[in-house]
Amino acid sequence: MLLGHAESLLRLFLPPCCPLCDARLADDEARSHCFCALCRSGMRFLASPCCPRCSLPYPAPGGSDHLCETCQRQEPPFVWAAAVGHYEGALRQAVQDFKFGGRLDLDRPLGVLLLERTGDRIRAFAPDLVIAVPLHVTRLRERSYNQSLLLARALAKPLRLPAPARLLVRVRVTGNQQGLTGAQRRRNLRRAFCATGEVAKRRVLLVDDVMTTGATVAECSSALIRAGAAEVAVVTLARTSRQARIF
Ligand SMILES: [Zn+2]
Ligand SMILES: [Zn+2]
Repeated sequence: MLLGHAESLLRLFLPPCCPLCDARLADDEARSHCFCALCRSGMRFLASPCCPRCSLPYPAPGGSDHLCETCQRQEPPFVWAAAVGHYEGALRQAVQDFKFGGRLDLDRPLGVLLLERTGDRIRAFAPDLVIAVPLHVTRLRERSYNQSLLLARALAKPLRLPAPARLLVRVRVTGNQQGLTGAQRRRNLRRAFCATGEVAKRRVLLVDDVMTTGATVAECSSALIRAGAAEVAVVTLARTSRQARIF
């Protein structure tokens, strides 16, 4: 973690390099503070066919978008969930370095990427607020930062939107979700989040790093709606293609 912070600091004084592979960036790449062409080519961006509601990607190429089984069975609490790409390759590396490697400096390039890939849908949704999926306070102490909040702020800045930290809180420690099915995840997360009345009548853009079954963003969206939010849309960096039964 310490090494990660030092590396983040050091990068401020170096000529613009790709934050993933250290290659010198071309002028246009440097201006955007994003990733080099090679690293970008190692990211598989989400494309049709996928579920228009939760962005679940379908394996067959050339098909058309249609609602997935999960969204058909029960309408999700968010209006849509969009993501940058598949959770693999260079994108997975960037997310893991950002989340676990102390590479806080990845907030800006990842925010740029998120805006580039989901900006049209965000602008059409016209959010009032950007809110991050929160960590429980004990987890926050272990990790010292909430990567989703850093990402939410990096995204909110160019959109000139507020990204307040405490309107949505995690009120229960929920443990590790890995290895649980969608239904188990949803049960595990039930009432784990609570939102304040300040979200009432607001259109909320919810931000997280990775969407797996969608249980976490669905539970956060429900908490925001319970607190009176007008509508919730979700953006994440990566989407796994696992079909889940969650809503
Ligand atoms: Zn690179
Ligand atoms: Zn779906």
